[in-house]
Amino acid sequence: MLSDLGQLQGLSTLLKKCQKPVHDNEPTKSTQDNLTNQANETNQPHQTNQPSLQTHWNILGGGSNLVLPKVLHQPVLHIQLKGIHLLDDQGLQNDQSVIKADKSTFYRIRVAAGENWHDWVTFALNKGWYGLENLALIPGSVGAAPVQNIGAYGVEVAQFIESVDVWNIETEQLLTLSAQDCDFAYRNSRFKRAHYSNEIIVAVNFALPKAWQPVLTYQDLKPLAQRYLNPSESITPHDVYQLVCEVRQRKLPNPALIPNAGSFFQNPVVPHEQAQALKAQHPNLVCYPQADGTTKLAAGWLIDTCGWKGKRLGSVGMHANQALVLVNPDGGHYDDVMTLADAVRHDVQTLFGVALQIEPICWMPDSSTHHTA
Ligand SMILES: Cc1cc2nc3c(=O)[nH]c(=O)nc-3n(C[C@H](O)[C@H](O)[C@H](O)COP(=O)(O)OP(=O)(O)OC[C@H]3O[C@@H](n4cnc5c(N)ncnc54)[C@H](O)[C@@H]3O)c2cc1C
Repeated sequence: MLSDLGQLQGLSTLLKKCQKPVHDNEPTKSTQDNLTNQANETNQPHQTNQPSLQTHWNILGGGSNLVLPKVLHQPVLHIQLKGIHLLDDQGLQNDQSVIKADKSTFYRIRVAAGENWHDWVTFALNKGWYGLENLALIPGSVGAAPVQNIGAYGVEVAQFIESVDVWNIETEQLLTLSAQDCDFAYRNSRFKRAHYSNEIIVAVNFALPKAWQPVLTYQDLKPLAQRYLNPSESITPHDVYQLVCEVRQRKLPNPALIPNAGSFFQNPVVPHEQAQALKAQHPNLVCYPQADGTTKLAAGWLIDTCGWKGKRLGSVGMHANQALVLVNPDGGHYDDVMTLADAVRHDVQTLFGVALQIEPICWMPDSSTHHTA
């Protein structure tokens, strides 16, 4: 468990100790150091005959975007760093080279990686730091938010990130990455790439504009959009926050009651011509033209049209109200989840010629790599 920045040096020493070849029948080293929270199974002997170099640690936030194997051989580092600080006002500064936001027009706030995302959104709203309302109720931690550039209801977190503070395990350096360095894209960033898996996000530096501009483009927020356009009415960030929470609670299964990882597939982005051809064949196709000329297809609609909404395969299934959410009500394992995911992908590919990408991160049982395809 990483709960204090002062532990970072100790962490590096610990990680180095783990970077040694592990041989057949030699248990993965467990440690009493309070920085680690190893999964129970990590004390199991390795099953292979080949020595392997154990260099990879699994970084855990809230665990809401993960598909886990039955047995995990690698150690897990649970990020629990806490703290929310208004920059400048408290004399806190980050690397001047990455500051883009003018403090007269932006609130600049550093939030530690282990803070709960929804609690932070609520805290910001109550402080009068607006902009994140559309991202309310997304489960998980602040540190994981940049990893897949979380997004909902027409807003992506990248729009509000000035920079990200990371601890590089290999170089043992704390560095501040600008938003540009983070290479944000739709449900993607540098942190999802294997090459940067040696970077632990320790804090996210937000820049929230002091002038609030609501984003009400999504169908579910249309009631507020109509009020907003009416000069005799007004809406507040609290109205947006409340509606987003209501819609999410109505539409999405609560992971505490029905295990799920939210959207299981990304909305595929295809060339405009391909979307037009599909629309000619399937007039009800739900799609969103993008500024760059591509078109985003609603993966939920594709899955629903293939007949998977509410359908089960063994102990797992696609949710009855939201075809994009794979649910695991009866304790299915990694293989059950992947078998269903493959079946859904196969049918969507066959009917529409479109490849679906899995959105959550899949932690592989025996490998140091993470599977996201
Ligand atoms: C019901 C439900 C609804 C959801 N709705 C949405 C939605 O609307 N939009 C959306 O974008 N997502 C959504 N998600 C997905 C999920 O909430 C987000 O991806 C969230 O950011 C995951 O946070 P976490 O702390 O649980 O991350 P985890 O699941 O713990 O980790 C996810 C990945 O981030 C890495 N990671 C975590 N913390 C750090 C860190 N400090 N440094 C480096 N790497 C780190 C992990 O190694 C892993 O690769 C939903 C999930 C559920 C269950």
